[in-house]
Amino acid sequence: MTNYEALGLRPVINAYATVTKYGGSLMPAEVLDAMNAAANNFIDLAGLQRAVGARIAELTRNEAAYVTSGAAAGVLLAAAACVLRKSPGAEKTFPQLDGLPHEAIVQRHHRNGYDFGVQAIGMRFTEIEPDLDSLRAAINERTACIFWFAGTMNTPEDIPLPQLIKVAAAQDIPVIVDAAAQLPPVDNLWRYTQLGAALALFSGGKDLRGPQPTGLMLGRSELIERIRPISSPNHGLGRPLKVGKEEMMGLLAAVERYLGLDHAARETYCEDCVALWLAALNPLAGVRAERAFPNEANQPLPWCRVTVDAAALGRSAHEIVAAFLAQEPAIAVSPLNETQFHLNPMTLNPGEEIIVRDACLRVLGGG
Ligand SMILES: *Cc1c(COP(=O)(O)O)cnc(C)c1O
Repeated sequence: MTNYEALGLRPVINAYATVTKYGGSLMPAEVLDAMNAAANNFIDLAGLQRAVGARIAELTRNEAAYVTSGAAAGVLLAAAACVLRKSPGAEKTFPQLDGLPHEAIVQRHHRNGYDFGVQAIGMRFTEIEPDLDSLRAAINERTACIFWFAGTMNTPEDIPLPQLIKVAAAQDIPVIVDAAAQLPPVDNLWRYTQLGAALALFSGGKDLRGPQPTGLMLGRSELIERIRPISSPNHGLGRPLKVGKEEMMGLLAAVERYLGLDHAARETYCEDCVALWLAALNPLAGVRAERAFPNEANQPLPWCRVTVDAAALGRSAHEIVAAFLAQEPAIAVSPLNETQFHLNPMTLNPGEEIIVRDACLRVLGGG
C-alpha cells in the first residue's frame, strides 16, 4: 500500500486551519467519487472546463466561472485577463508590458505573499494609502485593474469595498477580489460579484474541500474568456497552471456539496469543540483559554485562544506548539506569539476534538 507511513511520515491532525503547509483540507467522499469517475475516461479538456464553469456559474449565481490551479494562480490569471482586456495581443509579450496599461492598484497594507503572480506576469503594483483620494489620484491611463485582498490583511482602515468598486466602475476599471479563504459564509460565492467586483477568487482546497490544487474564478465572462486561449490545453502564459479533468470534476462536486451543507450544524459543532476545550483547559494552572470570534482568516466560526504563563510552565507557546506536533498522533495547532496559540475546530474530523482535548491535558496538564 502506498501511504504516508510507508515513507516514514506521520499523518497530522489539523487543529490549525486550512493551511497549505499541512495539506489544506480533506476531500469528502463526494469529491473523491467525482474524481474517481472522471479518471475513467478521456474527455475534451477545453470543453470540460467550459461545461464545469457554466455549471459552477449557475450554482453560484455568477455570469461565468473558471477552474484555476488555486487562488494564487487565479490572482495571476485575473491580472493577465485585465492586461489583455485593454491590450489584446499582449499574450505574445508577457512579461514585457512596457508601454501597455499594466498597473495594478492595491492598498499598501493589502500586499501579501500571494500577490507575486501579478508581478510575475510583468505588471506593476501601484500601492496606495487606504483612502479614496489616494485611490482617485492613482488611477491613470496605465491602470489595468484594482486588487482587493480579503483575509488577515483587512483592517478597519480599509477602503470599504463598495466604495472602491464605485470609484473603479466610474472609470471602467475591473476590481479583482482575492477571497481565497472567505468561505464560510457560503454566500460570499456571489456576494463580491454582486457588489460589482469583476472577478472573485477562491481556493478550491480550503473550506470548499475540493482538490488542493484548485481554485475558483467567478465573475465576468468578458474577462474569463480572455484566459481560455492562454491556458491549458492551449499554450501560453497560463499553460504551466494546468488543471486536470479529475480536479475540475472534483471541484464541481465540492461546490455542489458546499451549497447543500448544513452550515448551522457545522457552526454548532465548532462551538461545541471550543466549549469542550475551554472546560478542559481553564482549570489548568498557568493556562487561560477563551472563545475567539471570528477566526484568524475572518471566517465566521469560533476558535479557542490559549494564553499560557510561559514562566510558570517553563515553556513558550512556540515550544508548546512543537510539543503538540510531537504527540502521537501529531497535532498541528495555530501559533500566534510567545504566549498564545489557537486551537481551530474547522479542519477537524468529528471525534478528533477529543484527541485534541486529551493532548491538551498531556501537554499542558503538567502530568
Ligand atoms: C490561501 C490564500 C491564497 C492562496 O490560495 P491557494 O488556493 O492555496 O493558491 C491566496 N490569497 C489569499 C488571501 C489566501 O488566504
